[in-house]
Amino acid sequence: MEKTQFKSESKRLLDLMINSIYTHKEIFLREIISNASDAIDKLFFVSLTDDKVGLNREDFKIKLALDKENRTITVSDNGIGMDKNDLENNLGTIASSGSYKFKQENEKTDDVDIIGQFGVGFYSAFMVSSEIKVITKKYGNDTAYIWESTGADGYTITETEKDEVGTTIIIKVKEDTENEKYSDYLEQYRISALVTKYSDYIRYPIVMKNEHKKMIEGTMDDPQFEVVAEDEILNSMVPIWQRSKKDVTAEEYNEFYKQKFFDFEDPMHVISTSVEGVVTYKSLLFIPNRVPFNYYTKEYKRGLQLYSSGVLIMESCEDLLPEHFAFVKGVVDSQDLSLNISREMLQHDRQLKTIASNIEKKIKNELAALLKNDRDKYEKFFANFGRQLKFGIVSDYGAHKEAVKDLVLFYSSTEKKLVTLKEYVERMGEEQKEIYFATGDSIENIDRLPQIEGMRDQGIEILYCPEQIDEFAMQGIGEYDGKMFKNIVNDDIDTPDGDDEKKDDVEVLTFIKNLLGDKVNDVVFSKKLKTHPVCMTAKGGVSFEMEKYMAIAQPEAKVKAERVLEINASHPAVNSLIANMTADKEKAEKYAKLLYSQALLIAGLQLEDPSEYAELVCSLMV
Ligand code: ADP
Repeated sequence: MEKTQFKSESKRLLDLMINSIYTHKEIFLREIISNASDAIDKLFFVSLTDDKVGLNREDFKIKLALDKENRTITVSDNGIGMDKNDLENNLGTIASSGSYKFKQENEKTDDVDIIGQFGVGFYSAFMVSSEIKVITKKYGNDTAYIWESTGADGYTITETEKDEVGTTIIIKVKEDTENEKYSDYLEQYRISALVTKYSDYIRYPIVMKNEHKKMIEGTMDDPQFEVVAEDEILNSMVPIWQRSKKDVTAEEYNEFYKQKFFDFEDPMHVISTSVEGVVTYKSLLFIPNRVPFNYYTKEYKRGLQLYSSGVLIMESCEDLLPEHFAFVKGVVDSQDLSLNISREMLQHDRQLKTIASNIEKKIKNELAALLKNDRDKYEKFFANFGRQLKFGIVSDYGAHKEAVKDLVLFYSSTEKKLVTLKEYVERMGEEQKEIYFATGDSIENIDRLPQIEGMRDQGIEILYCPEQIDEFAMQGIGEYDGKMFKNIVNDDIDTPDGDDEKKDDVEVLTFIKNLLGDKVNDVVFSKKLKTHPVCMTAKGGVSFEMEKYMAIAQPEAKVKAERVLEINASHPAVNSLIANMTADKEKAEKYAKLLYSQALLIAGLQLEDPSEYAELVCSLMV
């Protein structure tokens, strides 16, 4: 019979599996068992509303059987099963997000370790097997199918007969090699230990026939044995979140997290809670140690897995997790929720709202504690998800700012590290009334901005805001501890010993303004410049950073900051310009244009005409 080839990317993965030298090949069993459990979940869910399934909760199980002679491990489930289409789509290609992720990562790293860290599902069985058979019948179908493959050369699908709905997977175990004793997987004790290690929490019984000798008659001196086979349940079936915190090891939590949420790194932080009262629930939450590859995209789905008394009712419940904590992964299990509640009903469910609000508080408190007790760890977290927190302040018209404002960090000009707003305010001098911040495109560039030089040199603490969201976040918070925020790049500041406005010769201002026309809204003498001749500031509510942001986010709105060219009347370059206004008007104009261009460049703005600027510089050089 003709073999169907695997899709190319699946084939690559398969080759990797077959030739894997990965040391933890044992994870294949957990992958197969968790697929079986998922399949049972699906049929159980159907059975809640469809009597025809004819199975009760306690009828569902996963069976394991070992056959040393034929070198096979058989895993059967009475779950939803697969039809021909499912077989082609699910076992012929990489469909799962987990595998897809693997493929992406692997293209870059070629790191085989990823296999063991979070598994790549069904395919991992090829690490220990030379031949796999899947016999399956889907619920609602009469025809059953056998899918067979010996690996790289493709697979076949044929019709067959099968009484029960569900799936049986027969894994032919490879022959032993010098380095690898595959035969171990045919031993009861080994398989039983693997189930305890990786699949203990699976909510359906995993049963295996335990063959042992039993004395049937005779005496101790002359015993008569019979081999009996009894079904033994290998797993405790208690989900990890139902177990008491003190009975679960860090390794178990980490293992659970990686398996469940397709990560290959341990989580950074685990939060386990058990609440009894108005609502009763258990939750197990994780903060990842790294940013998921699709995190800041539309594809990323925030939400927690929702269970009702151990039964999964929703894969990703958005309503349980506020936007600003979207990075949290985890599960919530409550006996107070009805099993067949619809999504629409859930949104209005009072219990769920209470749980969600408790969870938000819990995460907030945990993060605050981390910030207080383990600053390094918190800063690592903030590097990953700080942006999300700032987005959280801005979203929903600032409705959540109270929850987040003490969790955000900004870079301080005096401390040279990230600080909280609380720390800033506590250090503020008596005479300082506002929280000063400066926007720009990087810490280094902000530090070099002409207009902050004066304050910086006086040792006044300034928060540097290199991310576009920073300024929105400041605006979102509005005030902290009664102090307003002030962008010192733009606004005038009454610094303690700020210069009085130069009352000199305003002629130069008119001269420059007339020359530049609409390119600037105003030309003024600066109060804040020290060693620099000019700077460009934005007047009014829109800053340059916001203008740049809006140019990308909403180009049609054509949001423009009001440009104010500030000049330093005591700078020699400006004096030279003033002197030339009468001596050599043409030269004075060139100087003015040059200073204007400089101001634009330093502010991180584009020159309208770079080649004109180049010509200008050259003409002044010759
Ligand atoms: P993943 O489980 O990450 O989706 P797998 O490669 O393990 O990836 O499985 C691919 C798909 O094959 C599953 O998503 C599921 O639809 C189907 N599948 C695998 N095993 C079974 C099973 N025992 N019963 C029903 N469907 C299964």
